[in-house]
Amino acid sequence: MSPDLGAEVTRLREQVATLHGELVRYNLVAWTAGNVSARVPGADLMVIKPSGVSYDDLRPDNMIVCDLDGVVVEGDLSPSSDTAAHAYVYRAMPEVGGVVHTHSSYATAWAACGESIPCHLTAQADEFGGEIPVGPFALIGGDDIGKGIVATLSGHRSPAVLMRNHGVFTIGKDARAAVKAAVMCEDVARTAHLARTLGRPVPMAREDIDSLYDRYQNVYGQPGVSATP
Ligand SMILES: [Zn+2]
Repeated sequence: MSPDLGAEVTRLREQVATLHGELVRYNLVAWTAGNVSARVPGADLMVIKPSGVSYDDLRPDNMIVCDLDGVVVEGDLSPSSDTAAHAYVYRAMPEVGGVVHTHSSYATAWAACGESIPCHLTAQADEFGGEIPVGPFALIGGDDIGKGIVATLSGHRSPAVLMRNHGVFTIGKDARAAVKAAVMCEDVARTAHLARTLGRPVPMAREDIDSLYDRYQNVYGQPGVSATP
């Protein structure tokens, strides 16, 4: 590994370890279920959580470096059991720099019902540009989960997919953006559920959703600073 690549892997080990703390902070995970990965720019590598290690014990030095077939390149522990799904997404979607998986309660309840989350909120229009879609049922282990994620999110505005009977996968330009999408997905799923229990949520006009999405993605935030810094 060249010195430049080594420095990048070191930076991403720190980032990915730290971002797992955000899953805990936002109450998106129970026990060890849930994982974050980051693509190593300029290399066919990714940094991902080790399998079955408590969030309290995750550190930069026990993150796992894998190639994009899920084969371990650096690390003493086994990588996350969801490594194949992360790797498939990186192979199929070159623009993706980060992937997150959670079983966050409200979003996963929608996945259990096999129902996409309709866009009834400006915050959802901002982040997701419309509905948050449901992906197919797929068993863990091979490429089926990855295929389902890619088939659902390719050409879709939403960076989040609700994999049926399973949970949430999100993508982003980097790992931090994917974590933000996971946090916002759970927030939207919770409010949408509450709205359903109160009554009948009011649909939004397609042109209003488009306008909100365009403004948020292109104008929102501090000048020169991305909405997902
Ligand atoms: Zn899962």
